[in-house]
Amino acid sequence: MRVLGIETSCDETGVAIYDTDRGLLSDTLYSQIAMHAEFGGVVPELASRDHTRKLLPLIQEVLDRAGLSRQDLDGIAYTAGPGLVGALMVGASTAHGMARALGIPVLGVHHMEGHLLAPMLEDEPPEFPFVALLVSGGHTQLVEVHGLGQYHLLGESVDDAAGEAFDKTAKMLDLAYPGGPEVARLAEQGDPLRFRFPRPMTDRPGLDFSFSGLKTHTLTTLNALRDSDQLDAQGRADIARAFEEAVVDTLVIKCRRALDQTGLKRLVVAGGVSANARLRERLGNEVAKRGARAYYPRGRFCTDNGAMIAYVGAQRLLAGEHDSEAMQAVPRWPLDRLTPPAA
Ligand code: ATP
Ligand code: MG
Ligand code: FE
Repeated sequence: MRVLGIETSCDETGVAIYDTDRGLLSDTLYSQIAMHAEFGGVVPELASRDHTRKLLPLIQEVLDRAGLSRQDLDGIAYTAGPGLVGALMVGASTAHGMARALGIPVLGVHHMEGHLLAPMLEDEPPEFPFVALLVSGGHTQLVEVHGLGQYHLLGESVDDAAGEAFDKTAKMLDLAYPGGPEVARLAEQGDPLRFRFPRPMTDRPGLDFSFSGLKTHTLTTLNALRDSDQLDAQGRADIARAFEEAVVDTLVIKCRRALDQTGLKRLVVAGGVSANARLRERLGNEVAKRGARAYYPRGRFCTDNGAMIAYVGAQRLLAGEHDSEAMQAVPRWPLDRLTPPAA
């Protein structure tokens, strides 16, 4: 079954074609980052308009690259949520219009299920069951996964997501949006021993996270250096390093706990922050110590992309699931509401 996947939940227009026999046939992405950068974050109305402008040409591009025409498609999957409602509606309405015209099934899929299963697109995909750490711009969650649509939430952030904390820290340090990669780059020059930032919620049991206090701690440290005229390039790098170490250490501690608690030996890490090199290095050591294994998406599938949506859609469409007449655009949609396709 050949499925077109469409992702428009935020500031990336992602399109891909996944074949359940042959795997990923083609994928492309247009990022609106440059357009939103001057505002320091995503402007929802501009995002919707830009998706409208880019989506059809990108669909043509993935078809051309795969050597296919629209009539070769067997189904269409789009991100139905969570995300910005206007942006979601562009993908949803396009998918429904095309599917109606072609007489093929269409399905709205959950954006975080896309992130969660993105490692399935790699050469050695994880088998079920596994623990998943979802670390993106809007989510920080630990999930116990027993199969497609079998997601048990173990813990999540009670305030900011890890990616959001990276982005806000970048802003404080006058770095470009989105800040994760920028903070990570600056942190490489930093001295890990100069500052030690708190590891929030690690001193008590449980698998929830909190990153907003860490953000305040970063700001306080930054202001103290500025007030004493010590905020030079090295000082900024040292702060970036202390911040990154605190986030990474916190994530590693909670992953270790989740593996212990569930007794599982496979850890999937996905979402934008899973691209972070320091996080991968630390988690690599951690899983090696306990005879476990970590699985990640390739670099460009850590952040938003069409391939993960095409993959999830293909699995569910193949099992007979599809939307009824109405398109779906669901800005808030908890992951553990999902069910397996047969249910
Ligand atoms: P959600 O998926 O929760 O709706 P989103 O789609 O905006 O949010 P993603 O596209 O998965 O999130 O990831 C973007 C986030 O990942 C941003 O917050 C960005 O700063 C962060 N990020 C990307 N690369 C890195 C990196 N190397 N280190 C740390 N953070 C990173
Ligand atoms: Mg994004
Ligand atoms: Fe995302």
